[in-house]
Amino acid sequence: MTDSTTAPRAEKLSAIKGMNDILPPDSARWEALEDSVRTLMRLYAYENIRTPIVEHTALFVRGLGEVTDIVEKEMYSFEDRLNGDRLTLRPENTAGVVRAAIEHSLLYNGGKRLYYMGPMFRHERPQRGRYRQFHQIGAEALGFGGPEVDAEVILMAHALCQRLGIADVELQINSLGQPQERNAHRAALIAHFEAHHDALDAEAKRRLHLNPLRLLDSKNPAMQDVIGAAPKLMDFLGEASKAHLAAVRSILDANGVAHTVNHRLVRGMDYYNLTVFEFVTTQLGAQGTICAGGRYDYLMEQVGGKPAPAVGWAMGMERVLDLIAQQSLAVAPLDVYAVLTDVGFFPRVQQCLEQLRLRGISVQMQAAVDGVLPGMKAQFKRADASGARYALIFGADEIADGVVTVKDLRDPAVPQLRQALDGVSLWAHSLQSAA
Ligand code: ATP
Ligand code: MG
Repeated sequence: MTDSTTAPRAEKLSAIKGMNDILPPDSARWEALEDSVRTLMRLYAYENIRTPIVEHTALFVRGLGEVTDIVEKEMYSFEDRLNGDRLTLRPENTAGVVRAAIEHSLLYNGGKRLYYMGPMFRHERPQRGRYRQFHQIGAEALGFGGPEVDAEVILMAHALCQRLGIADVELQINSLGQPQERNAHRAALIAHFEAHHDALDAEAKRRLHLNPLRLLDSKNPAMQDVIGAAPKLMDFLGEASKAHLAAVRSILDANGVAHTVNHRLVRGMDYYNLTVFEFVTTQLGAQGTICAGGRYDYLMEQVGGKPAPAVGWAMGMERVLDLIAQQSLAVAPLDVYAVLTDVGFFPRVQQCLEQLRLRGISVQMQAAVDGVLPGMKAQFKRADASGARYALIFGADEIADGVVTVKDLRDPAVPQLRQALDGVSLWAHSLQSAA
């Protein structure tokens, strides 16, 4: 047998770079954000969907497009050692939702409004607002082709920002038109960039003939002039595409949702058409886009389903939480901290605490340390630190008399009360309404 006091400690392992632990008390803010999202999604009648974190690599290659940042350089892909399948940790969840909708015929009965929250994985250079495991809230309205649903998802994202108290966020919107309109624009773009070939960086030169729209996305400062002078997709849009954008905008206007048209907004995935939009803030430095989305009417057939229109968005949870870091997301405080003087009281004490919890009262219980309870003073210190409104005191007298002493931790002037242990249901209500 090894003596545990002399055995060398195992080497410390740390988390993977760009993948963060979310710890208390910060995790409470995550939960509060998630609660807000669930409430909001109910108000708009969006139902929750949960798809696997791992999908076949082909889903993303076909769905997102081969010449995109994500597919070219950001995916965590690997071979399943057991059967050789090519698999990828999901870099986004729209493709997965669409795959699931096709696989389970979710649209048999008309449209489907869905939302999700969860981790996504991209191999990026970690920095503020950019991580390798990050989290998105997403909404997808599948099977709806009208501009009113583009407007609905935008109103929903806007409402979420409002609820979270996010000000200073600008809504930018654009139309990518339909594929044939994009083809005409594509030819004009290639001609324009070829005429300015010397101004392009290596990446742009490589992508010029593969996917010239991606050049508009470039953040290279040296290319901004030539990008600014590029032919605008808007000038290639037909009447129907223009009318679609105008209809979306008029609904936003009717709801007082300010927005600007950004002709250079193209988004990083190939699956978009018609409406695209982003919610952008200047408060997060370079990583200013907190929510992005658009219409993707051709993704369904691209991944093997019956054609169906769709529109949706994804919001970066880390960026949202960073923005509201200074403001408190309402986190429900603890109601009760239970202190006791003897480990022998645990059966009686825990019986009482369970009854309180059944009535919706949150309780943190003092536990023993190596079989011994800390002194009363130390226990009260912890009760204060817990943020609880009340301390429940289970001492020898209390147990003998079948009562518990209730102490108001926030207002010491309130006299302590003794309550009968066999009448918890009678006094629990007053604790709950006061806390
Ligand atoms: P960016 O231009 O910042 O790389 P993107 O176009 O790649 O964004 P989307 O794929 O549209 O982003 O994802 C939607 C949202 O998810 C983004 O607006 C952002 O808030 C968030 N997001 C994307 N990538 C990351 C990441 N690596 N870390 C944290 N949040 C991210
Ligand atoms: Mg990106």
